[in-house]
Amino acid sequence: MPLRDLIGNARVAKALTRANARDRLPHALLFAGPDGVGKRTFAMELAKAVTCHSPVDGDACGTCDSCVRATSGEHPDIRVFVPEGTLHKIAQMRELAREAQYRPFDDHRRVMIVDDAHKMRDEAANAILKTLEEPPPTTLIVLVTDQPYSLLGTIRSRCQTLRFAPVDAESIEGFLGERFKRPADETKVLSRVAAGRIGRALSTDLSVYRDRRKEMLGLIELLASRGDRLRLMKAAQFLADVGRKDRSELDARLDLFVDLCRDVYGVALGEPSDGVANADVTLRLEALAASTPPERIATWIDAVERLRERLRQNANRQVALEAMLLGLGGE
Ligand SMILES: [Zn+2]
Repeated sequence: MPLRDLIGNARVAKALTRANARDRLPHALLFAGPDGVGKRTFAMELAKAVTCHSPVDGDACGTCDSCVRATSGEHPDIRVFVPEGTLHKIAQMRELAREAQYRPFDDHRRVMIVDDAHKMRDEAANAILKTLEEPPPTTLIVLVTDQPYSLLGTIRSRCQTLRFAPVDAESIEGFLGERFKRPADETKVLSRVAAGRIGRALSTDLSVYRDRRKEMLGLIELLASRGDRLRLMKAAQFLADVGRKDRSELDARLDLFVDLCRDVYGVALGEPSDGVANADVTLRLEALAASTPPERIATWIDAVERLRERLRQNANRQVALEAMLLGLGGE
């Protein structure tokens, strides 16, 4: 799929193809933006466009020998570096520095993509500093990251940064609708759940999502009704157990809790229903919005942020969850 057909971030796509058509791409680019919005895909498509034998307005033709090889991941001039384990090793980055000096095997350009570029310690970063500063004119380096400020300033300053934005829900909905056969209301929920991230829309299992949502919506209703302490303590115990088994499961539930609170908050303030992520449970959201002042809901969202901070500081999970829920249920 050439750059022009990618979902979202059309301005970035246009800037890249225009620069490529004029042969004016910077030698080092930093793709920065939230996780799951397509940065890596853009980098791969850009690599295809700059190595393409017969580009169309700076974009890949998609059919030439070079494009076919790039699509199958076998282009000798396109190299992708991913962290080995949790980090880019120094040896890997030295390899990048060395290979950046190679002449293209084909006759165009070499492209080196570093995914999760923030996952390198200073030594690894220092191994590519000189290469970033002065790569051969035939080499393009693209760093991809969702945490640009975790990169060394010396790395950032040697790259031209392109910022990626979350993708609007309508575009994601259109994309999912074209690609998958799902009932329209499910597509709509997924596109909202994605919160601007195509990656999240693709990786979300809707039935798992609905099960979790049932729990979280029940909990919010319990809070709204100032439900009894015993049930709130049970809920805290349940979430603590979930978190003990799998930290990311607890995170997903807390995300959902916040998303649902935002939905209720939005409904309470009379925002258009398009902005509601969980549109398929609108009636329950409306009931909550009718019974609970928006200021109270806002405190629930803040409380989850504070809880996360406490958990990062290794607070006891169950104690922290209990304190939060009992506090919110009693307010
Ligand atoms: Zn081509």
